[in-house]
Amino acid sequence: MRLFTTIAGLRCYLGLHRQGKNVGFVPTMGALHAGHISLIEGARSHNDIVIVSIFVNPLQFGPSEDFQQYPRSLEQDRQLCQQARVDAIFAPSAEELYGSGTGDWGLEIGVARLPIPDSQSPISTTVLPPENMTSVLCGRFRPGHFQGVATVVTKLLNLVQPNNAYFGEKDAQQLAIIRRLVADLNWSIKIVGCPIVREASGLALSSRNQYLTLEQKEQASVLYRSLQQAKKAFQSGDRDRAILIDTVQQEIAIVPEVQIEYIELVHPTTLMRLEKVEEAGLLAIAARLGSTRLIDNVVLRDRQPIVAIDGPAGAGKSTVARQVAKSLGLLYLDTGAMYRALTWLVLESGIRVDDEPSIAELASRSQIQLSTGDDPQITTRVWINDHDVTFAIRSLEVTAMVSAIAAQPYVRQELVKQQQRWGLKGSIVAEGRDIGTHVFPDAELKIFLTASVHERAQRRQQDLKNQQQPNVSLVQLEQDIQERDTRDSTRVVAPLQKAADAILIETDGLGIAEVTARIVSLYHQKLSVSR
Ligand code: AMP
Repeated sequence: MRLFTTIAGLRCYLGLHRQGKNVGFVPTMGALHAGHISLIEGARSHNDIVIVSIFVNPLQFGPSEDFQQYPRSLEQDRQLCQQARVDAIFAPSAEELYGSGTGDWGLEIGVARLPIPDSQSPISTTVLPPENMTSVLCGRFRPGHFQGVATVVTKLLNLVQPNNAYFGEKDAQQLAIIRRLVADLNWSIKIVGCPIVREASGLALSSRNQYLTLEQKEQASVLYRSLQQAKKAFQSGDRDRAILIDTVQQEIAIVPEVQIEYIELVHPTTLMRLEKVEEAGLLAIAARLGSTRLIDNVVLRDRQPIVAIDGPAGAGKSTVARQVAKSLGLLYLDTGAMYRALTWLVLESGIRVDDEPSIAELASRSQIQLSTGDDPQITTRVWINDHDVTFAIRSLEVTAMVSAIAAQPYVRQELVKQQQRWGLKGSIVAEGRDIGTHVFPDAELKIFLTASVHERAQRRQQDLKNQQQPNVSLVQLEQDIQERDTRDSTRVVAPLQKAADAILIETDGLGIAEVTARIVSLYHQKLSVSR
C-alpha cells in the first residue's frame, strides 16, 4: 500500500496504474472505525484500485467547533487501510490541498469558514450547493459546514477521478448534497451510499464517539432506540410528521443528559420538509451529550419487499425467479426481457450494433414497461415506448444481437436505472448479474443460487437434448462453464459475486420446485422477522 501526502504523488500513481481499471474512492477525516472500513470493503469488492483520503478539512468546521481536538491517528489508520487492502492513502496537509498562502489553519479557522462571498481574502474557490439543502437540518446549526464539505469533495473527486465514490448513510444530509453536486456538475461518478454501522447498543459509530465516556455511550444509544420506535410506528401506519417526531422526542426524553438539537422529517433526496411520508422520508436527529455532538437517522420507506436472485450462469436463476414470483404473487422483473426490448428497438430503428453512442441515446430516451402476464405461458408482458413487444423480443434476430447490446456499458447503466425505478415500489423478484450487490443492495431477501460445474453441465446437456440441438460432450460443457465462471467473476463491469448478506443455495440434486419452495419459505421467515 502507498501513502501520498502530495497531489503530485497521487496524480503520478494514478497515471501509472489506472489504465482501463476501475477506481473506487473513500473520502474520510481519519480516526478510522468499522463504519469507514465498511465503505472501504464496499469499494474493494467493486473496484480494481481503492483510494482512501484522510484529511481533516478545516473548511467544514465552525470557529467554536472541534477542529483542533478532532482525533488524528494516521499510523493506526494506515494499518487498518493496509488490512483492508487499500491500494493508496491520500493524506495531504491543508496547505497542500488549498495552497500555501493560507497560513496556520489551526488559528485562522475564522477566516477559512465558508461562505465568505464578500470576504477580502477568500482562501479557495468555494462550492455552493443549493441553499435549500445546506441551510436545513445540520446546516441550521453549522453555517458554512456543507459548503466546506462540497468544496473539499469537489477537489478530491477531481483529483482522484474515481468511477465510484463511497459515502456513509450516517451523514444523510452530506450524502444527499453530494449526490446533487455530482448530478448538477454532470460528473460520471457513481455515488454509493453505505448503510450505517452501529455498536451492539445501536449507537452509530463515529470518530467523535471517542469523546464519550462508557456511560455516555450507553446514554447515546437512546438515539437509535428512538428512531426504531418511530420506524415501528411508521410500519404500523403512522405517516404524519407530528406523530413520528413526537415518538422520537418522547423516547429521547427518557435520557435527560441527551439534549436534542433537532428532530426533522425531510425527503431523503431533496431534503424538503415533509408533513407526511408519501414514498420515503428521512427522519434525522442531532443531539448533544455534554460537549459532543451526535447525529443519527433512519429512512422510512413505504416499499414492498424485493427478492434478488443472483448466481453463476446455468444455476437456474431465471426459471426459479419466475416460479418464486408466481408463488408469491410478485412481479418477475425480467431484466433479460428489458435488454431484449431495447435490442428490438435498435433493430427497428436501423441503428448498427456497433454504433454505441446512438444506442446510448436510444436507451436513455426509451421507457420499458413490464407487467405480470395473464396467460400462464407468459410470465411478464413487455412494452417499449408503448409498443407491446412481448412476443417480438423472442425472435431469432433479437436473440442473435442481445448480448452484444447488453455488453455496452451505457446501455447497462441506463437499464439498471430503469430497474431501480421498479425497485422504488418493490413487490418484485429480480434476477441477474450483480442484482443483489449493485442493483438492489437493500433487497429484503437475497439469494445466491449455485450448483457444481458438473451439475450445470448435465442440466445444459439435458436442455440441448430437449431443444433437439446437437449433442455436446459433458467434458466440453464443463470446460465451457468453468471458463464462463472465471470470465464472469473477473470482469471489470459487474463481476459475479455473492453479496455478504445473500443466502447461498446449493442446488445440486434439487429440482426447480424444491428450490422455489425453499426461497418462498425464506421469504416468509424474513418478512415475519422484519415486520
Ligand atoms: P468522516 O471521517 O466522519 O468524515 O466519515 C467518512 C465517511 O465515513 C463518510 O462518508 C461517513 O458518512 C462514513 N461513516 C462515518 N461513520 C459511519 C458509520 N457509522 N456507518 C457508515 N458510514 C459511516
